[in-house]
Amino acid sequence: MSKPTKRNIKKINADWVLPITSPPIKDGIVLTDGKAIKAVGSGKELSKFPYDEIIDCSGKIILPGFVNAHSHLELTGFRGKIEKGLPFTDWARKVVSIRKDITENEIATAIKDGVDELISSGVTTVGDFSQTGITAKILNERGLRGTVFLEFSGFNPEQKDEKLRQLKELLNYEIDSKLITHHSSLITVNFGIAPHAPYSVSPELLKESHNFAQEKRLPLAIHISEMLEEIEFIKNGSGAMKDLLIDFGVWNDKWMPPQTTPVQYLQNMGILKGAIGIHLNIVTEDDIRILKENDVSVVYCPGSNKWFGRNWKYPLREFLNNDINVVIGTDSLLSNEKLNMFYEMRVLKENFPDLENDIILKMATVNGAKAIGFEGEAGEIAVGRKADIIGIDIEDSSFNNPIEYVINKAEKASFSMINGKVIYE
Ligand SMILES: [Zn+2]
Repeated sequence: MSKPTKRNIKKINADWVLPITSPPIKDGIVLTDGKAIKAVGSGKELSKFPYDEIIDCSGKIILPGFVNAHSHLELTGFRGKIEKGLPFTDWARKVVSIRKDITENEIATAIKDGVDELISSGVTTVGDFSQTGITAKILNERGLRGTVFLEFSGFNPEQKDEKLRQLKELLNYEIDSKLITHHSSLITVNFGIAPHAPYSVSPELLKESHNFAQEKRLPLAIHISEMLEEIEFIKNGSGAMKDLLIDFGVWNDKWMPPQTTPVQYLQNMGILKGAIGIHLNIVTEDDIRILKENDVSVVYCPGSNKWFGRNWKYPLREFLNNDINVVIGTDSLLSNEKLNMFYEMRVLKENFPDLENDIILKMATVNGAKAIGFEGEAGEIAVGRKADIIGIDIEDSSFNNPIEYVINKAEKASFSMINGKVIYE
């Protein structure tokens, strides 16, 4: 073993350590060397390990920070501005009118508020859809890990060139400002692209933006199969979604409905391989096979579905039975009450009371990290992983299982470390 004395080894002790990919440890210890995890084990096992500083988390359960795999932090300022349970297209009309007059300063303030809410609820990594790219700068300043998916729509093919130009300009700007780093040890923000959805982006723009993402090796995320209006539109080219596109002035008379499901449509276009699919609330057996074959990670947004009053059963069991990587996202505060992963896990548990707690916790941590580009870095407490660790106060010590406590009882974090640096206490 090398001499660690000059390497600022921090020793974190806690009542429980939940490494996620290995069993819980009572009276556990985690050692970090500044940025990464050096060792994890029981106090007894690691008693001889030298250290420079102690971080006392007694009275807490510590675990890897949560990964919120889907948010729109730019919309954080609009909490409560739209009533719950509206039909999707009425909701979308309101979103567009609310967003219209917002200034860059207001957007930045909203993102900062959103980031604060994420941190206090234990999130250390986020996958955020951003139309302005401002999120990247703020995540970077606050030291939160994340992938910023630059989001755009454009159903009329005439919008294609301008939308692509904007996307490239935004990305170049971010690259020039040295925010794009791909796994640099100092800065923790990556980029991806997010064509909004199959019903709001033309096939031409979907294909070209996908080619661009391939060329730049950027991940692609997209909302898919969120609601019935979308399914009807992609199948028949009709219904409330068509009316919405006409009202927004982007309808294209030449567009022919693909007469498939949204998943099959994207598959036929060749853009699904390795993508991150947001929602996938309504799928067929064939869709599930396609998602598996294309190694698509699925982001389930339980709080958002509850907010819309969607009372159909989410195909979670079907995804899990087919070994699909399912993760959790909050979506935005225009379609959710909170940006809080404890709340999401609780709603998920209400929907699936029989689902094992450790599967839920994996969805909120290590699986999320895999989905948004941080596999092997975040989402677990294991040697060599980044030191992204949160602590939860034990308010009532009568529990048998610490994982159950996190899912059923906890509401906020009381400690957060990202990349070895304590950012919240
Ligand atoms: Zn979304």
